[in-house]
Amino acid sequence: GSSPNVLEESGRTLVIGSGGFMGRLVTEASLDSGRPTYILVRSSLNSPSKASTIKFLQDRGATVIYGSITDKEFMEKVLRDHKIEVVISAVGGGSILDQFNLIETIKNVDTVKRFLPSEFGHDIDRADPVEPGLSMYEQKRKIRRQIEKCGIPYTYICCNSIAAWPYHDNTHPADVLPPLDRFKIYGDGTVKAYFVAGTDIGKFTMMSLEDDRTLNKTVHFQPPSNLLNMNEMASLWEEKIGRTLPRVTITEEDLLQMAKEMRIPQSVVAALTHDIFINGCQINFSLDKPTDVEVCSLYPDTPFRTINECFEDFAKKIFDNAKAVSKPAASNNAIFVPTAKPEALP
Ligand code: NDP
Repeated sequence: GSSPNVLEESGRTLVIGSGGFMGRLVTEASLDSGRPTYILVRSSLNSPSKASTIKFLQDRGATVIYGSITDKEFMEKVLRDHKIEVVISAVGGGSILDQFNLIETIKNVDTVKRFLPSEFGHDIDRADPVEPGLSMYEQKRKIRRQIEKCGIPYTYICCNSIAAWPYHDNTHPADVLPPLDRFKIYGDGTVKAYFVAGTDIGKFTMMSLEDDRTLNKTVHFQPPSNLLNMNEMASLWEEKIGRTLPRVTITEEDLLQMAKEMRIPQSVVAALTHDIFINGCQINFSLDKPTDVEVCSLYPDTPFRTINECFEDFAKKIFDNAKAVSKPAASNNAIFVPTAKPEALP
């Protein structure tokens, strides 16, 4: 970071929320792509596992800046002093509206060439989950409208589901192995969704933000090789672990009930799970708006990691884990992978 040439380098990128789940994936991809990468960290609020993520990213070359996007004066100085060209926000579901401050800062400084707000899920202008998912979507919609109103150059990343078992009560299912005791299948298990590897979410996000074709567009991640329903996901996992597991049905009513309990964030996940696997929110529309672009058409030569490969990684973790505790994997229930371990993420 102290080379005199640093301000001549292009693509200076600021990531907000690097200590979080999505922010970390995006920050790693930014570093991989060779961009000068700055990360904004709220110093006082960090847990030990977030602190170790920040240290890991710093060791990989990220420049840490301490502060919050709610401090507008400070943020203007950050954008100016570091000549930031790209801002990627990956703030969590509870902080979506904090981005109003960020939008104002970006507007005032007027040198940011691309802003990616915290999206990284469904097309929130189309999807229509029940509460409390809806409230989060309404907040994300407000942020979109403000960006558009201010004329800030943007890209909305709609990467769909992360490649993992879609637990209906876990915001970060990729941190957990698929089931080893029984599968909970939502509805009849036939509604398909796109399961995208975390590394690919990061990689294609980076490709999108330096592409003129994605300026002021919504980028949909719809790789055909990653479109599966829950019955297929279950069978694939059974293949990997070499045995079959019982399947129990979680009905539409069960999911709605969990959403109604209003436990945050679990009820948000239940509402979104209902929207995906009952309503089919990832597949029930066509890309017919002038602002829609699809990532496979943009980058036809870059393959996506398949669910098969992702599940192989999970299976490998079980066997490594079983070796470590010298106990057969079959006797374990879901093994929780420590979140702080960088290599534990797929
Ligand atoms: P996390 O809660 O894991 O992390 C959020 C990060 O944002 C934290 O590091 C937090 O910092 C930081 N942050 C929040 N407010 C501020 C602020 N005012 N100033 C600076 N930093 C701030 O978030 P997720 O990764 O779960 O969510 C990010 C986005 O990804 C969301 O839009 C979410 O909907 C989406 N998502 C999509 C998934 C999918 O499967 N498609 C799965 C999970 C999330 P601190 O550590 O200090 O609190």
